[in-house]
Amino acid sequence: MNKRKNKGYRDSGKKRQDKKDKKQNFSRGSQKGGKPIGKRKTVTAKVTCSGLTNDGKGIVQWEGKQLEVANLLPGETAEVTVSQRGGFVNAELKQVVTPSKDRVTPPCEYYYQCGGCQLQHMNEEKQMRFKQETVDALMKPFGKPEAIMTMDHPYDYRNKSHTTFGLNQNRQVIGGLYAQHTHQIIPMERCLIHDPKADEIVHTIRGILQNSKMQPYNEDTGQGFLRHVLVKVGKVSGEIMVVLVVASPVFKGKNNFVKALRKAHPEITTLLMNVNNRDTSMVLGDQEKVLFGKGTITDTLFGLKFEISAKSFYQINPVQTEKLYGKAIEMAELTGKETVIDAYCGIGTISLIASQKAGKVIGVELNKDAVRDAIRNSKRNGIKNARFYQGDAGEFMVQMAARGEKADVVIMDPPRSGSDEAFLSSVVKLKPKRVIYVSCNPETQARDMKYLTKNGYKVEGIQPVDMFPQTHHVEAVAKLVLKEEAGNR
Ligand code: SAH
Repeated sequence: MNKRKNKGYRDSGKKRQDKKDKKQNFSRGSQKGGKPIGKRKTVTAKVTCSGLTNDGKGIVQWEGKQLEVANLLPGETAEVTVSQRGGFVNAELKQVVTPSKDRVTPPCEYYYQCGGCQLQHMNEEKQMRFKQETVDALMKPFGKPEAIMTMDHPYDYRNKSHTTFGLNQNRQVIGGLYAQHTHQIIPMERCLIHDPKADEIVHTIRGILQNSKMQPYNEDTGQGFLRHVLVKVGKVSGEIMVVLVVASPVFKGKNNFVKALRKAHPEITTLLMNVNNRDTSMVLGDQEKVLFGKGTITDTLFGLKFEISAKSFYQINPVQTEKLYGKAIEMAELTGKETVIDAYCGIGTISLIASQKAGKVIGVELNKDAVRDAIRNSKRNGIKNARFYQGDAGEFMVQMAARGEKADVVIMDPPRSGSDEAFLSSVVKLKPKRVIYVSCNPETQARDMKYLTKNGYKVEGIQPVDMFPQTHHVEAVAKLVLKEEAGNR
């Protein structure tokens, strides 16, 4: 069982969920990881916040140590609870003494328990300043980033939601998100960043469960059936996929369940069952069965239709995705002749949008389902100049470089961990004129850009995009140009 890491500051009158678990809430000097040893000592300290970490926590000094305190803002003085055990120190906000003018009451009633959002205690202007400053600081060696692209209505944006089911002490069915770093479910009616329709469906499923013999799964005993519900919404198509993640392939009462769900929500276009019988924090298992509909949904970006399956990656904020991709394509400066590599291509979104302005596009992606979707998507949109390959992007690039193949533009959009040296060194060998680096983690992006700028590339533009409002996450797209090429212009 994971350790609980509760949020320190909460609205008065709100009860902390589990005091027992809270005792285990430690991290070394607010650095991550590690196991506490020895006796625990707790004191209250008065501190002043001097700045923010990249994940939006307040930085304070205490007895010569730098600590991080969630939900604290620069300039604020506050009382914090400092807990020490062995070499491990953890600080939680107890009370703000002098609030910042940037502080607001979080609109979400679960904010201080959940941890899914980290910035709701900041007003929108401060949130944007925080993200801008985070990207500006990380990108300082490469130049000044553009002003962040903001979202007009920074709520209701997530087209994908996960809800975990369980029983409360009164044996009533609850559904919600895990409290941060724990496996404790916070019963939740509404998450303000989810698509509202998804929450309505989850509410219905909870009601059906309460009135049927079907039991939510219990992680500790291994008993019960329903573990999670995944809802994916096609914002343009209106199509909705519901995935029931269950612990066993034997679905007793399936017909009644499906009938009740469809009656309440005729807008659900496909329902799947995914069997996950492993003791894992991964939501989806390997076995998947379509209970009705085609097993996928479609969504539209830049006028192209994309088919999305349960497991494949698809950007979770389609409104901002169009802004991000628009910028990436603009930076790629395509004229209709180029060979473009779209690395870490997912279901081929960027590839297919780029293919309309390029000579040809080669997409490479590790996830088999996503590659299958990408191939289907190119056919469904009548695109003939895009090819997709399944495999590790680094290995693929090494092979391309070894065969002496050429590419004019590389667009790369790796996961949070960033790219690797195999990939980056092959980019350097292939010498594309432009590298467009899309990233949801500017820290690893800056690391990889350092490699590229040391090896022949120059940064010509950086655009941050607020893809994940209310959270500390920020997306950025950077344009790198081969220096020989830049010199010739
Ligand atoms: N460009 C896509 C997907 C970006 S997410 C989009 O905008 O929708 C990153 C993708 O990288 C995921 O689809 C993930 O499956 C894939 N991935 C992760 N590690 C990889 C690797 N080593 N090689 C290739 N693809 C990888």
